[in-house]
Amino acid sequence: SKSDGRGALRLFVPSMERELIRRRDLELELKRALAQDELTVYYQPQFSVSGEVVVGFEALVRWIHPVQGLISPGEFIPVAEQTGLITELDMWVLRRACAQARDWGEVKLAVNLSPVDFRSHDLAGSVAAILRETGFPPQRLEIEITENLLFGNHAEAFAALSALRSTGIRIALDDFGSGYSSLGYIRRFRVDTIKIDRSFTQNISQSDDAAAIIDCVVRLARALAITVTAEGVETRDQLRYLQSVGCHYVQGFLLASPVPFSSIDRYLERAKRP
Ligand code: C2E
Ligand code: CA
Ligand code: CA
Ligand code: CA
Repeated sequence: SKSDGRGALRLFVPSMERELIRRRDLELELKRALAQDELTVYYQPQFSVSGEVVVGFEALVRWIHPVQGLISPGEFIPVAEQTGLITELDMWVLRRACAQARDWGEVKLAVNLSPVDFRSHDLAGSVAAILRETGFPPQRLEIEITENLLFGNHAEAFAALSALRSTGIRIALDDFGSGYSSLGYIRRFRVDTIKIDRSFTQNISQSDDAAAIIDCVVRLARALAITVTAEGVETRDQLRYLQSVGCHYVQGFLLASPVPFSSIDRYLERAKRP
């Protein structure tokens, strides 16, 4: 009835207001955090499918809030994207990670960029400037993008991706399979790596479909000379399956969680020597 509807609305509005206030607070706090160095970068090792050799690290931002403690990126990245702070944040992460990882030998460094970053003027120029400034070799950098980017403003995104690739930087397509991207897109945008979304990895033993899809994706990717990293590997069974289908690289809690810079040495010891 009408009154039920209005009652529901009345209950809904205050919580929406609270949500807006929380977002606005988070935005102001995030601005402060960027200025005051409350952000930090954790690194999650990526392994050869044997699980033995460390081949790279993915940089993942963390916010150590003085009162609220650790705030996860899942909470503040969307706010940063909506307020336009994201590009400043992503360039901060890139600069910090390149500076910290420069002397880690041959291992690659993977950094996440938001589709919003690709709307900024001369993204490739900003990235190149950070590489020069930190002395980080472009060949060791992999930029992780999501397929949202490929569906948005095609021409601009394509130009920025080509400019990045022409400097030797590699491109990885993150969360593959979680949306609508096809291997056709991947070929057109000349992606170097696809990262199989963890929702597939985690269903390997529960669902024949997930296992069959991974098998198929690995075959097709290999035929296109694209490397495959499986995300979210948490069990031995998952790892064994990924080995059996010829996946190249794996990442997940079974092998290593994201760690702070101060804990990186134990993984560098397991990196391939040049
Ligand atoms: P993502 O890029 O897909 O990163 C992988 C996420 O999965 C990370 O969460 C990682 O800690 C988590 N993870 C790793 N192994 C496992 C596993 O075995 N099981 C499970 N359940 N989870 C695992 P995190 O660090 O909380 O980051 C969440 C998302 O926030 C990232 O997802 C990425 O989309 C975004 N993000 C993180 N750092 C940045 C950044 O610097 N810039 C941008 N634009 N986005 C970032
Ligand atoms: Ca990622
Ligand atoms: Ca991912
Ligand atoms: Ca993601």
